[in-house]
Amino acid sequence: MQTGYSNGYGGGHTHSRRRSHRAAAGGVYRVCSSSLSSPPTAPSTPTTTSYGNSNHVDTETAVASMWEGYDEAYFQSYANVGIHQEMIKDRVRTDTYKAAIMHHQNLISGKVVMDVGCGTGILSIFCAQAGASRVYAIEASDIAIQANEIVKENELSDRITVIHSRVEEVEIEEKVDVIISEWMGYALLYETMLPSVLYARDKWLKPGGLILPSHAMLYMAPVTNSERYHETIDFWRNVYGIDMSALIPLAKQCAFEEPVTETISGENVLTWPFMVKYIDCYTTTARELESITARYKLSAIMSAPLHGFAFWFEVEFNGPITISSNNDMGFPFQHGTNNGSNHRKRRQKDTIVLSTAPEETPTHWQQTILYFYEPIEVRQDQIIEGSITLSQSKENHRFMNVHLEYSTAGRSFVKESVMR
Ligand code: SAH
Repeated sequence: MQTGYSNGYGGGHTHSRRRSHRAAAGGVYRVCSSSLSSPPTAPSTPTTTSYGNSNHVDTETAVASMWEGYDEAYFQSYANVGIHQEMIKDRVRTDTYKAAIMHHQNLISGKVVMDVGCGTGILSIFCAQAGASRVYAIEASDIAIQANEIVKENELSDRITVIHSRVEEVEIEEKVDVIISEWMGYALLYETMLPSVLYARDKWLKPGGLILPSHAMLYMAPVTNSERYHETIDFWRNVYGIDMSALIPLAKQCAFEEPVTETISGENVLTWPFMVKYIDCYTTTARELESITARYKLSAIMSAPLHGFAFWFEVEFNGPITISSNNDMGFPFQHGTNNGSNHRKRRQKDTIVLSTAPEETPTHWQQTILYFYEPIEVRQDQIIEGSITLSQSKENHRFMNVHLEYSTAGRSFVKESVMR
């Protein structure tokens, strides 16, 4: 059911999306079924294969992990060309990465780059075009086979080495000057790929090396979306003249039990955005990302029914020098503050930013919305406050548990949900 957005990313609840491993695993829209919980099949032993005239060592390392089977499904989804086409067609995403690579050309030209999760190899090729002397293009899914073909056909095999492996199992003979990766999932952290990039950073990045993107910000805000509520819920009140409102409780459960991926606009947003988490990719640790909690206190900028909360993210592409000056300044956002506009003022003028905010051009990530079963009427200036906890699911580390507490006008609520 497309809802008529002109950019092709609208009305997200039936079309396939980037992280289509969710289709294999059940999908965000699998609401109303519990078909997900069946255990994964036993994984095959991971194998590392290199292509081209690489000089690195082939390795076979069995990584004992309770999540391996889930990871197999995850990487299988990335063997599908459709998911790569969707990402590459997202011009906001791909053009911003290209611009960021060119912007940092002085730190890439003549240098060694690692592309963590190279997919079709597009970012590795951009880096080669920027003058990288060698690019290690690491890809765990079978799309690595085609990436290698693409590299060969573009006569870049002398500079790009495609390695068909999880980055955690790669062995190369040198440290790298630059790590590039496109790791962001829905609501930034869904799919838990950033820990793989941090692993590569700790093992392979030279001191003072460049990481692109360098910083990531996860935002949330209360939203109003009467149109969506009416389409999904009130629809059942009169269907061809028949009262089908008996379906409404089930419709609410199906539509609003789990977070959904859809495009909203800035007009749906009820308060200034709240920054849930600021991630410095140069310093953050995987452990820090396992569970994130933030308290918020927000003030409605208009009177409207509150239907839920939206999540979105931005990433910045700063060099290592900018990072230390940012740290010196002290980042203006703290957990529990509500000063979204300040962030942009503090951002350096030439910083390249990839934004998935509702007021920006839509991307394939769209926004992630957690709808309530019942809307709450709020007045202008009314305070909405509470806490948000996002944590990796113990069931499957690619999934994300969402625990949202919200209070307004003396009433308090809790919403628990899982992004599968
Ligand atoms: N860089 C490509 C693809 C980005 S999607 C582009 O920008 O178009 C992320 C890719 O990372 C997927 O192809 C996925 O299979 C791969 N990936 C995720 N985790 C990985 C890991 N630990 N090791 C190697 N590849 C990984």
